[in-house]
Amino acid sequence: VQSHDSLVKFGDQHVTAGLGRLVNAVLTKGEGSYVTFGDGRKLLDFACGIGVTSLGHCHPKVSKAAADQCMNVVHVQCSIAYHQPYLELIQRLLPMMPHPSLDSFFFWTSGSEAVEAGIKMARAITGRQNIINMQGAYHGRTMGAMAVTKSKTIYSAGFHPLMPGTFTVPYPYWHQLGVPPDTPASELTKTCLNQLNLLLSQATAPKDTAAIIIEPVLGEGGYVPAPAEFLHGLREICDKHGILLIIDEVQCGFGRTGKHYYSEYSGIRPDILLSAKGLANGFPLSAVISRKELTDKLAPGSMGGTYAGNAVSCAAAVATADALKEEKVLENVDARSKELFAALNELRKDPKLAPAILDVRGKGLMVAVEFASPVGSGPYDTFTNPSVPEKLASRVASKCVEKGLLILTTSVYEVIRFIPPLNISKEDLAKGVEIFKEAVYEVVR
Ligand code: PMP
Repeated sequence: VQSHDSLVKFGDQHVTAGLGRLVNAVLTKGEGSYVTFGDGRKLLDFACGIGVTSLGHCHPKVSKAAADQCMNVVHVQCSIAYHQPYLELIQRLLPMMPHPSLDSFFFWTSGSEAVEAGIKMARAITGRQNIINMQGAYHGRTMGAMAVTKSKTIYSAGFHPLMPGTFTVPYPYWHQLGVPPDTPASELTKTCLNQLNLLLSQATAPKDTAAIIIEPVLGEGGYVPAPAEFLHGLREICDKHGILLIIDEVQCGFGRTGKHYYSEYSGIRPDILLSAKGLANGFPLSAVISRKELTDKLAPGSMGGTYAGNAVSCAAAVATADALKEEKVLENVDARSKELFAALNELRKDPKLAPAILDVRGKGLMVAVEFASPVGSGPYDTFTNPSVPEKLASRVASKCVEKGLLILTTSVYEVIRFIPPLNISKEDLAKGVEIFKEAVYEVVR
């Protein structure tokens, strides 16, 4: 038997540095809201493998469905035949759709692949080339997805040239626009829609523009929900010019924000909706959802992949969808979200923390606390106080790990994100919040 430390050392020698690692240890067990490491540490998990294990680790019904499927058929190449869980999953997803027009589904493995498929579809269907994306958005690490990713240069640095034909517009996020955190949504929206209209008359003509792609809640860009009026503004512009609207709900979809899809809050109609992460509670699966009328324009064989829509992943997703409903998970999201916001807003009121916490935001259980960055630390220090220490978010996150809470930062700003399991108990949520508070007080002082 190899010791935990020797295994980690082995990993350090043989695994690329191109993968970052928050905890340099071997994670040996996941159970509900907790993860255990080979060195004996047990942490409360507010990261969920970056928003994936939404029903907690190894949900018994999901694991059982996957195990049963493994004894039946593991792999059916999707261009050879249908498999049962593929079709059952469509039956589960249909009633969850944020708009009744969404009636055509095909499944892939990762979020990035879904983005690639969305872009390719938009080009083929419209016969146009260019894609408009949003500042701060993350869509993945493959070539096309990376080209529309604008959250951090780390994802593209050294990998240029990227896919041509992409144009970036501002997203209604106060910090990116250089305005105060309490700027009304209507003002942010007006600025951004104005810039988009200008782009369409100055840089990419509508007749060359296939799609606008948007994450309706910026994820890797800082957990910033888009105002409904912005989404409706996009829809109007798309309708006016025959541009397709691709809504990437890879991170914010499948119950994360308290509805099956965030788009449901605004009633926005996506032309193409992308889903992944929580969809199969840890099994690799993504979905590209659109209208049959559009997807029937694709040539047979032009889409697909060896492992796309894997049978075990689809069976896990069917069980995830069933558990979401049977266990009234969305009701839990609502209740826990209210408690989380109440605790964080209370914390923010403490005058001792006043210069350090700039913003508490999000929806459902996709919640962020944005800290100030110290003056002079970079281009993002507009609203900061010289007494605030540097790299607050990563220091708070490390302190949380020391104290037993796995939690992640996000974006180029000082942001901590809360993505706990959607079925987390009241007690575990309170415990995590307590650890977070202790960490903040120790780091900020
Ligand atoms: N889109 C969004 C909104 C995401 O958050 C992510 C993953 N963080 C992706 C796409 C890419 O998904 P994957 O890592 O599965 O390729």
